[in-house]
Amino acid sequence: MSAAGPPFARVALIGIGLINGSLALNLRRAGLAGEIVACARRAATLDKARALGLADRTTTRPAEAVAGADLVVIGTPPAAAGEVAEAMAPGLAGRAIVTDVGSIKTQILQDVLPHLPAPQRFVAGHPVAGTEHSGPDAAFEALFRGRHCILTPLPDTDPEAVAAVTSMWQAAGMRVETMTPEHHDRVLAITSHLPHLIAYCIVGTVADLEDHLQTEVLRYAAGGFTDFTRIAGSDPVMWRDVFLNNREAVLEMLGRFSEDLAALQRSIRWGEGDKLEELFTRTRTIRRGVIAEGQAYERQALTDAPREGAADDADQRRRP
Ligand code: NAP
Repeated sequence: MSAAGPPFARVALIGIGLINGSLALNLRRAGLAGEIVACARRAATLDKARALGLADRTTTRPAEAVAGADLVVIGTPPAAAGEVAEAMAPGLAGRAIVTDVGSIKTQILQDVLPHLPAPQRFVAGHPVAGTEHSGPDAAFEALFRGRHCILTPLPDTDPEAVAAVTSMWQAAGMRVETMTPEHHDRVLAITSHLPHLIAYCIVGTVADLEDHLQTEVLRYAAGGFTDFTRIAGSDPVMWRDVFLNNREAVLEMLGRFSEDLAALQRSIRWGEGDKLEELFTRTRTIRRGVIAEGQAYERQALTDAPREGAADDADQRRRP
């Protein structure tokens, strides 16, 4: 915090669940917000948010929440972003910066921009960090640390707004990058959306099999299947929205995946062990590369900015 006060005198968080709740904890720790106002539909959500210290004030009315705010963060399920933008627009100050955290970008930009009085002050964003838990109770401060945040500004987006949103996520420990909304949606379709679809599918298949064959598959679930159930436990509403709103990119990646799966099926049928081993060796290298990248950043972050409680944070990051 500078001597002049926090960079944002008032921040409005529209939706106060896992992502916006965790952001609230970071805004507080980094001294970025003078006051935090949270908005959700249900009083129970807002009661929890206040009890957990995620907000100073709460309201169920979006226009009231954003009144006088210099930063507004939309953190509702993706399909609600448009209606929320419409509802809050009458209360928005002209210079307010608006951003969001949605897992899809092209559709959210289309839904939100028409309602905003100053569209060039909207910086669409996606902190690529999460767990399968939702609601204010699921929020924790270390969620974003060492993870990527993707911003998808348009050619006419105000650079000052982009810089402010970038600083906010960097203060939460994120590596911030920019790309076009279309590119974001294609990249996330393969790295996040397709794996979730596969997890939902395999867990559904096994559950149906258990019913059908009257076996105890779920009771003996172990190893890989348990990992799939963790992903398949993610919020149903949010993921429904993701697939329906990133339809083209997901279908394209699903087509490629189906071809690769058919090739594997063929290798197994024809006893082509060399092909299986070659693929599994390649994927093991990829896994090691992913781990190495995360560790390298973690070491760098700790060297650059030693923090108190780093060990606690690491423990929290290991939460299921
Ligand atoms: P969450 O924990 O379920 O929180 C959603 C919040 O939005 C709740 O406070 C909910 O409270 C509120 N809400 C829902 N509909 C609303 C509406 N129409 N108006 C106002 N408030 C509303 O969800 P989350 O996991 O934080 O996800 C939020 C956003 O982050 C999504 O866009 C998602 O794509 C993105 N994201 C999620 C993850 C992840 O792993 N979960 C990762 C990165 C990005 P009420 O039900 O009381 O209204």
